[in-house]
Amino acid sequence: MCGIIGYTGTNQAAPILLKGLERLEYRGYDSSGIAVINEKIDLIKSAGKIKVLEQKTDGGKKLSGVIGIGHTRWATHGVPSDVNSHPHLSADGNFAIVHNGIIENFAELRAELSSKGYKFKSDTDSEVIAQLIQYYYDGDMISALCTVMSKIVGSYAVGIISTYSPDSVYAIRKDNPLVIGLGANENFIASDFAAALEYTHNFVQLGDGEIAKLTSRSALFFDAHGNRMEKTPYRVDWDISQAEKGGYPHFMLKEIYEQPRALTDTVRPRVKNSEIILDKIAFDARNVNLIDKIDIIGCGSAYHAGIVGKSFIEKYCRIRVNCVLASEYIYSDPITDNRTLTLIISQSGETADTLAALRLAKKMGAHTIAIVNVVESPIAREAHDVLYTHAGPEIAVATTKGYTTQVAALYLIGLKIAKIKHTVSDARYSEMLDELINLPQKVEQILNDTDSVKSYAAKYSSQHCVFFIGRGTDYAASLEGALKLKEISYIHAEAYAAGELKHGTISLVEKGTVTLALITQSALYNKMLSNVKAVQSRNGTVLAIASQANIAIEDNSDGMLTIPDCDDDLTPILTAVVLQLFAYYVAAERGCDIDKPRNLAKSVTVE
Ligand code: GLU
Repeated sequence: MCGIIGYTGTNQAAPILLKGLERLEYRGYDSSGIAVINEKIDLIKSAGKIKVLEQKTDGGKKLSGVIGIGHTRWATHGVPSDVNSHPHLSADGNFAIVHNGIIENFAELRAELSSKGYKFKSDTDSEVIAQLIQYYYDGDMISALCTVMSKIVGSYAVGIISTYSPDSVYAIRKDNPLVIGLGANENFIASDFAAALEYTHNFVQLGDGEIAKLTSRSALFFDAHGNRMEKTPYRVDWDISQAEKGGYPHFMLKEIYEQPRALTDTVRPRVKNSEIILDKIAFDARNVNLIDKIDIIGCGSAYHAGIVGKSFIEKYCRIRVNCVLASEYIYSDPITDNRTLTLIISQSGETADTLAALRLAKKMGAHTIAIVNVVESPIAREAHDVLYTHAGPEIAVATTKGYTTQVAALYLIGLKIAKIKHTVSDARYSEMLDELINLPQKVEQILNDTDSVKSYAAKYSSQHCVFFIGRGTDYAASLEGALKLKEISYIHAEAYAAGELKHGTISLVEKGTVTLALITQSALYNKMLSNVKAVQSRNGTVLAIASQANIAIEDNSDGMLTIPDCDDDLTPILTAVVLQLFAYYVAAERGCDIDKPRNLAKSVTVE
C-alpha cells in the first residue's frame, strides 16, 4: 500500500526521510510521520500532507540523529488522524515501527497484550507490532523479530528502530513490497526504488519472512529462524518515473498485477475459522430476516460490480436485488423503506452521484452499507456501516483492483447473509468460501502467462467495434470488460446478454467483426455455443474466454483465452483480469494515454 523509508548513515536522517516520503507521495496517502534516534526516539507525525511535517521540523533540520524511519499512511484500520499516523512507539518508548499492510489477527494480539498491562494509543492494527517487539525483546533484536513474525498473521512491510541498537534500522516483510538500498556509508529501506534512487542504484530484495539489519556500513540478512543469509545485490538503472511504476510501463498494469495482494487483503482478514466477520457490521438473524429487498447503487465499474453482486446475492440469499445507477436512482422516486438494505459502491468514496443516492436512501429509511476503498471518505462516513475494500491506492483512471475487490466484498456480504438465512447449504458455503480465499492464486496464474492475451490484443487492436457476449454472471462480467476497452482504447465496445444478440445487435455483425464470448458456466455452454455459431455464420470472428471446463469451445471459435478452473459462481473476478489485460494491451498497441484516458477523471465529484 503506502510508503516506507528508512535511513542509517552519517548524514542527518530527517531531511533524507522527508525527501524519501515525497518520492513516495505518488502512491497516495492520508498522513505521514518520521522517527529518528537521538538517544531516545524523537517522533513527529500528522494527518494530512508531508508539508506539515516539513513545516514542523524546518525541512527536518530540527530533528538531529542519523538513523530513522518514515511513513506515508493509507489508512485501513482507524481514521486518518495524528495519533493513528505512523511511526508507532512501543509502550516503553524504546521501539518505533512503520508498517504497510494489514495485520489480520491484531485484535486478538491486542487483547492479549492489553491483559498484560500494555496500553495502546491508536486504533491501528499496526501498533501491536511495536508492543509485541517490546514484549519479546530480551536483548536480541533478531530473535524478537523472528518471534513477532511467527505471531502476526497478514501482510506487512515493517521498518523498525530501537534505542537498544541505536546504529541500526531493521526490516521484516511478507506479501508487501520492500527493498533494501545499499549506498556508500549509508543504507536504506524503501517501499520502492523511487525513494532511494537518488542515493544508490544498488538494491537487495527482502524476501517473504526475511529480516534485514542495516547499519551505515553493513547490511545483514536473516531467515525467519534467525539464520544468516547471503544476498546478492543487483543494479537498478531506472529513472524515478520508471521506479514509481515498479518498472511497469503504466500504473494500470502495475495495479492489475497488484490484484492478488488486494484481493487477499479484502477477503482474508474477514474470514476467521470459516466464519465471515464483516468488520463492525452487525449482521444477525434478526436484522437479516427483516430485509425484503437489497438495492445496490454505483456508477461505472462500481455499478458493474453491483450487477455481479446482484446475481450472486439473489441466487444464494433468495432476496430480490435491484442494481441501480446512482445518477438514475436519485431522480427515480425509488421504492425504498426500512426493510431495504442499500449497498453503496464507490472506489473513491466521494463520487457525487453515489453520495447523493446514499443520502436519499438514508432519508427514505434504508439501512446503508458503503463498499469503498478510501478510508473515511464522505460515503464511508455517511453510510450507517462500511466495508472497506483494502485495494490500496489506485492511480490509473481506469479501475482494476478497485473493481475486483468490490466484487469480492459483495461475495462476502452475499455469503454472510446466505449463511444466516440458511439459504445456502453448509457444504456449498464452505466450497465457495474456500474458492474465494484461493482466488488470488488463480489471478496470479493468469498474470504469470499473458502471451496469448497480448497476441490477441495485437491482432484485434485496429478494430472499430468489439462486442462482448455472455449469459448470467458472464454477462455481468462482460459489461465491465466492454467498459475497460472503451475507456482506455477508445474502441467502441458493447456488452450484450448473449441471448439478446438475435433481438437486434446481430445486424451489426459483418465479416471480421470481433466478438468476445465469455463461457465460464458449464450449464450454459450449449446456449452460448448457439450464440457463437450465430456470430460466425455472419462471418464474425469469435474470441472465446473460457474456463477449463468449457475449453471445447475452442473448436468452434477463432481463438480462445482460458481462465483457471474455478467455481462457476465466482469466475467474474478471473474473467475481469483477462479482460483488463486485453483492454490494456489493445490500448498499448494503439499508443493511447492509458493511465489518463481523454475526458475522464479518477474521482467524479460532480453530478
Ligand atoms: N494497516 C495500517 C494502518 O491502517 C497500515 C496502512 C498502510 O499500509 O499505510 O495504519
